Amino acid sequence: MDTQRLNEVLGDAGEPAYRAAQVWEWVAKGAAEYGEMTNLPAALRERLEVEVPLSTLSVCAEARSDDGTVKTLFNTADGRPIEAVLMRYRDGRRSVCVSSQSGCPLTCTFCATGKMKFGRNLSADEILDQALHFRRVEPIDHVVFMGMGEPTMNVDNVLAACERLPDLGVTNRRTAISTVGWVPGIDRLAECEMPIALALSLHAPNDGLRSQLMAVNDRFPLAEVLAACERYRARRRRKVFVEYVMLDGVNDLPEHARELAALLDPRGYKVNLIPYNPTGAYDGSSPERIERFRAILAEHRVPATVRLTRGRDIDAACGQLAAKAAA
Ligand code: SAH
Repeated sequence: MDTQRLNEVLGDAGEPAYRAAQVWEWVAKGAAEYGEMTNLPAALRERLEVEVPLSTLSVCAEARSDDGTVKTLFNTADGRPIEAVLMRYRDGRRSVCVSSQSGCPLTCTFCATGKMKFGRNLSADEILDQALHFRRVEPIDHVVFMGMGEPTMNVDNVLAACERLPDLGVTNRRTAISTVGWVPGIDRLAECEMPIALALSLHAPNDGLRSQLMAVNDRFPLAEVLAACERYRARRRRKVFVEYVMLDGVNDLPEHARELAALLDPRGYKVNLIPYNPTGAYDGSSPERIERFRAILAEHRVPATVRLTRGRDIDAACGQLAAKAAA
């Protein structure tokens, strides 16, 4: 919800200072309407109902995958499309993948979001409202900043949202920020008080190939990115998750696996191999090639898992959030 607007209306109504916290407590617990907020005076509830919408976002479309994944397309108040995804796992985990920007200013060649127009940074309220949309349906326990946008380029609002996520039931340890390797952003994460997990979208084991796939590598080459990850590790004493999208014949050869293994301290990194979700530009690696790649990393004692693909049938998987319905 628009917390600034809430404060203005409460101030205007001459309400005591604790009212804002009362409202937020209800919202964070998943209240779907002011009527539920029984410790607020009835007249105030009615006024808020009219003047402060419970969410800054409106739902434009929702798609449900056979695997239980739900993708929601929202519009911001000024009409920017964003998407968020709820992933339900068998062990009961409920993870929400949120967007930090409408569109993305970066242009990674394999990612669908990079192909849509960049809109703007999202506010902390807009980020939280994505998670709250699902919180109103069921409890959630993980949040990953892996939707649209580059969270480290909107780091103030992203961290402000993280500070309030525990109210929704998502601890900072169960919150992960994924980055293309924006060095100042990694340093901010290393220095902040919250123990937020870091995921690095690496995707290539050398600068030549990485620059081809991700133009941002020209600005922050591999050595600088990995040095920033080492600073994060030293400060946080926590492993960094490495994301590596498997592109057939491009970055999935045995020599790439060996090169990657040489780059990463086995004690400090965990590699997540991501089956490519088709966006047009490439072919995905076969399961056999992905397994071969994983096995080579394992031989070098670098722990690696293959990411479970969720929601591909509804274009909700990694890199597919292009807000088609809004286009
Ligand atoms: N901008 C941040 C946050 C987005 S996370 C980042 O890039 O890390 C989205 C993840 O999905 C990233 O690891 C991204 O590289 C990956 N991804 C993008 N396109 C993909 C595709 N077509 N198939 C599989 N993964 C993809």
